[in-house]
Amino acid sequence: MSTQSPHLIRKKVIAGNWKMNKTAAEGAALTREIVEAVGRETLVDTVLCPPFTALESVARALEGQAIKLGAQNMHPEKSGAFTGEISAEMLRTLYVTHVILGHSERRQYCGETDGFINRKVLAALASELRPILCVGETLAEREAGRTLDVVRTQTEAALAGVKPEQITTVIIAYEPVWAIGTGKVATTAQAQEVHAFIRALLTRLHGAALSQKVRILYGGSMKPANAPELLAQPDIDGGLIGGASLEARSFVDLVKAAMAAV
Ligand code: PEP
Repeated sequence: MSTQSPHLIRKKVIAGNWKMNKTAAEGAALTREIVEAVGRETLVDTVLCPPFTALESVARALEGQAIKLGAQNMHPEKSGAFTGEISAEMLRTLYVTHVILGHSERRQYCGETDGFINRKVLAALASELRPILCVGETLAEREAGRTLDVVRTQTEAALAGVKPEQITTVIIAYEPVWAIGTGKVATTAQAQEVHAFIRALLTRLHGAALSQKVRILYGGSMKPANAPELLAQPDIDGGLIGGASLEARSFVDLVKAAMAAV
């Protein structure tokens, strides 16, 4: 195993999940504000994930900048009779490089299963999109002492069939469901415990050298005030940000917190 600092091996990632917020025009305006502050920043990988309808306007606002564009979902099939769905190829034509998969809101409200999420992960990788795979336990699961079991099951199922040469393309986001949009943040110890557990799982699946290169993000009410402590943990490689990504100032402050943690 490398003796290098994890902060040097893995570039930090700050990804904004705008969810069902911002029209195309509002998204472009927010992007321009973010670009002004951190547009050419390369010390941290910054990703904006607007709704599908704002991908094109945000892509235009990102032209020539270092910030990457992500989608919030995709369908595993290439094309066909899937009303309302979007394929990896369609995302690629809009300059999308990342895609959030398995977000707890899609698991909860759209009935997405681990098997379906696995198909999406494999399809995204086949189309050279970087999956941001979300895993995490509900409050009831945590209180029943099942956190690590749930995270293990979700992670193993979603990564089934991912080849060793693909695993470092995947970004994993640990998002305790009870911390998303609630203002309740996992303690740094709770978050680090699960992140280290996921990395140990990746070591078992793909070996230590590869697992040391996979970025594992924390998501769940991450804000500029709590980010420095979370980002200082050895296995926390960035954040997937919901609420605080909808306003330029807080999002830029999170990118700056990640820069300071490098
Ligand atoms: C999310 O939805 O991925 C998320 C982390 O949301 P929030 O930051 O608002 O908790």
